[in-house]
Amino acid sequence: MRILLQFPEGLKSKALEYADKYKEEGHEVYLSCSPCFGACDLAVEEAKLIHADKIIHFGHSRFPSVLSPVNVEYIHYPINIDLKSLENILIDLKPYNSIGIATTIQHVHELEKIKEFFEIKGKSVLIGQGSLASEKGQVLGCDSGAVTSISSQVDAILFVGDGFFHALAIKIDKPVFVFNPYSSSLEQINDKIEKLKRKRKGLLAAAMVSKTFGILVSTKPGQFNLSAAKSIKKKLEEKGKRAEILIGNTFDQYSLGNFQSFDCYITTACPRMSDDSEQFDKPILDLELCNELFFLTIPIK
Ligand code: SF4
Repeated sequence: MRILLQFPEGLKSKALEYADKYKEEGHEVYLSCSPCFGACDLAVEEAKLIHADKIIHFGHSRFPSVLSPVNVEYIHYPINIDLKSLENILIDLKPYNSIGIATTIQHVHELEKIKEFFEIKGKSVLIGQGSLASEKGQVLGCDSGAVTSISSQVDAILFVGDGFFHALAIKIDKPVFVFNPYSSSLEQINDKIEKLKRKRKGLLAAAMVSKTFGILVSTKPGQFNLSAAKSIKKKLEEKGKRAEILIGNTFDQYSLGNFQSFDCYITTACPRMSDDSEQFDKPILDLELCNELFFLTIPIK
């Protein structure tokens, strides 16, 4: 079989190891080197061009809105957690009788054990379900439903994972803690969440005085949303703004940097681009902010 292996950035160092494994099984192996940031980002175009029989996509679970014309096998990369390290954070969580727990796909298989750990210590523990995430308790950068679905029933949220990308998708008013299973450190991140909210207000203010808008449509299968872009373009033009639709795979300084003429971008692709506005030196609105600014009702996937 001809297969295309696709790894997220954090697992690309494992590529040769897996290539050897599939070759030994008799497969013809190709490696996708395109940037891959999520399960929304299947290497369908590469697979079609090389007539691959299958994409093997590592480290993510299925993204419900991705309909791939090429067969896809998802291979999780589970990473265990030393449950004993949770003992150290009990003191910090003492004020909260009920907690909601959530994590990323790497640790989702540990959530029931984490739940049991805290229940034995006398806490009530809830695990929610997102709308885009396939697993219970799984948070994506664009889907914190695993937390928001239970936030009214708990005193605090404990997110297990390293870095803050996923945790900062959680924009709720309850205490939010991040437990890093690699360093066994705990940090309350409500100040970071507030900072992000203030930043989003700043983006809105900058967009309000913008006259020329670039509406970003990504060719990544799970991000492609041309209908939203067309609706936004029409609404902006009705409001006397200039708007153009820009289509590309990955939006970065190389693809957008030389478009000097846009005052503001609106992303119909990954909503977390708006967190990285500095990188583009222009405000970037996601669909939620865009709806807020122009009183629109563009559906958010
Ligand atoms: S759309 Fe963005 S946040 Fe959502 S899965 Fe894809 S890369 Fe992650």
